[in-house]
Amino acid sequence: MLLPRIDLFVTTRCNNKCPVCLIPFCRELKDPSLNDIKILIDKLVEVGLKKICITGGEPIMRNDIDEILRYIYGKGVKIYLFTNGHFLLKKYDSIAPYLGWLSLSLDGVEPLTVQKIKRDKIQPKIIGNILEFFNRNTPSFGVTINTIVSKQNIYEISKIGEFLTKRKYIPDQWRLIQYLYWGPRQNEEVRKENMIDLATFNSVCRNLKQKFSNFLRIDIYPLKKKTGVNVLIGPNFHTFVNVNGQYKSFESIQTLTTNQIEKFFYTLFSQRILKNRSLYNWPRR
Ligand code: SF4
Repeated sequence: MLLPRIDLFVTTRCNNKCPVCLIPFCRELKDPSLNDIKILIDKLVEVGLKKICITGGEPIMRNDIDEILRYIYGKGVKIYLFTNGHFLLKKYDSIAPYLGWLSLSLDGVEPLTVQKIKRDKIQPKIIGNILEFFNRNTPSFGVTINTIVSKQNIYEISKIGEFLTKRKYIPDQWRLIQYLYWGPRQNEEVRKENMIDLATFNSVCRNLKQKFSNFLRIDIYPLKKKTGVNVLIGPNFHTFVNVNGQYKSFESIQTLTTNQIEKFFYTLFSQRILKNRSLYNWPRR
């Protein structure tokens, strides 16, 4: 069976405090245990899982992240790990062997912008250090830089491109994602402060492609491309599906049998995946 893209949240802990993040609304949830993750992975493998995105919170803050990755890798599943990079180099040797792709977030290079978006001025330095490390130790996995394009950083996206192209190690992919509001509906203020319309997003991305595509592979993700083709599995194993820019919540996938999981994916996704394979398919290196 062709599965949708699956993002598994392994923790709600994070060292950053991005105002746009969904995670603070899940903080009361306990992180799933290693054993529960294993049970879920076994079921997903049975219905055809071949690739999975591991995310959080900051997944590398889990002490057993290496064990989680090793288990998934041992099942023959390719792993795409999302991280803000802060703890990556400390744990690098124990997690690198299991990675298919690594996604690092970089939403600005000016300290003020990064401070506003991530509540953390040192993010560009962290990413710079990691790329410098990769220059000395070529990774065996693909490296993506993820940039969420919002009203907060739209005027300095080009500076991020310059930052990346000046490195000795150039990442495999620069992914530009149109801002998507995650939090509760009532927080209109946050949404308005960040949301950009599709025309603006497309025009910024066109300019960036003209300027940087000789040096960097740029992939563009407008909101509508994300609608209904991926499933998020939260820390309590509740599933969320993006329906027209808002995440709709479904029951806990862990309590379902493999037959029920298969039916759930089939009903929700089969047609959408076929129509939009670009998000499902990971880039080739
Ligand atoms: S780095 Fe990611 S998980 Fe952490 S607070 Fe920011 S958006 Fe949330």
